[in-house]
Amino acid sequence: MDFSFDEQTTALIAKARRFVDERVLPAEPVLDAQLAQSPEEWTVRPIVRDLQREARAQGLWNLFLPGAHGAGLTNLQYAPVAEVTGWSTRLAPPAFNCAAPDTGNMEVLNDFGTPEQKDAWLRPLLDAEIRSAFCMTEPDVASSDATNIATRIRRDGGDYVVSGRKWWSTGAMNPDAKIFIVMGKTDPDADRHRQQSMILVPRDTPGVRIVRPLTVFGYDDRDHGGHAEIVFDDVRVPAANLIGGEGDGFAIAQARLGPGRIHHCMRALGTGERALALMIELAGDRHAFGSPL
Ligand SMILES: Cc1cc2nc3c(=O)[nH]c(=O)nc-3n(C[C@H](O)[C@H](O)[C@H](O)COP(=O)(O)OP(=O)(O)OC[C@H]3O[C@@H](n4cnc5c(N)ncnc54)[C@H](O)[C@@H]3O)c2cc1C
Repeated sequence: MDFSFDEQTTALIAKARRFVDERVLPAEPVLDAQLAQSPEEWTVRPIVRDLQREARAQGLWNLFLPGAHGAGLTNLQYAPVAEVTGWSTRLAPPAFNCAAPDTGNMEVLNDFGTPEQKDAWLRPLLDAEIRSAFCMTEPDVASSDATNIATRIRRDGGDYVVSGRKWWSTGAMNPDAKIFIVMGKTDPDADRHRQQSMILVPRDTPGVRIVRPLTVFGYDDRDHGGHAEIVFDDVRVPAANLIGGEGDGFAIAQARLGPGRIHHCMRALGTGERALALMIELAGDRHAFGSPL
């Protein structure tokens, strides 16, 4: 496979690099100040909105999404841009509307959603008007093997009824996360990889209960909407909220998580590059015992 960048990708990397250097990195102390002003909030802070307006005007928007609804890039073209956004993971990905979990959720809606589902949820996500969460992992089962997922999605007339407990639902503490994509079992007796389905559950549906935020290495990731434990207590949604057909959930999860893994890895590379750059800068500046470090 040829991994060299084409002309469009090279130009996009340069543009993203310039935006991150000139607009995003100087905005980091502004984000810190805004977080300090409203320490209890889980919402996106105003500086992110400001950067989003600028990034969108420059065409640095929805770059992760292939096809007509997004920027139309391939994963190979987007990967080095994700690497650049890793230089400021709290600001650059949301500034470009390229932050997880919304990216994966938009991919699911884009690839598997009905026209009505796209209109209701994909369009406002593409415009960053709302946020979303992906609810797969459960406290009671080893969720790295998604066939274990135990949440039930039962058909009842024209509705589905969702019951289960999820955790690590990133972004769900943010009240602007208006839609949850929930994975559960519609048929526990079907073939191992055909038991699961995905369904859209609006946040304000009766029976949805946000239990608590979780922390990662002591961080609550508040400005990113945190990571929530959520109970779905006989949550009733219309049958039209099912994404794809019954039994398609496992395949959709794999389709969703594949590109996301590349995005996360590329951002992690960018974060590592920044850490190295900061170390080099520090080592060049500091003197100890009469000589440079
Ligand atoms: C910051 C963060 C954000 C997250 N966001 C989301 C989200 O938005 N939505 C969501 O649904 N989930 C999310 N998750 C959850 C994440 O996807 C799960 O934690 C992950 O899939 C592992 O599942 P588990 O925690 O149940 O671990 P388990 O499945 O119980 O696994 C425990 C450990 O065993 C290891 N393991 C598993 N199988 C093997 C094997 N065969 N050999 C050796 N080791 C093995 C695993 O790697 C893991 O280290 C998030 C997690 C974190 C930390």
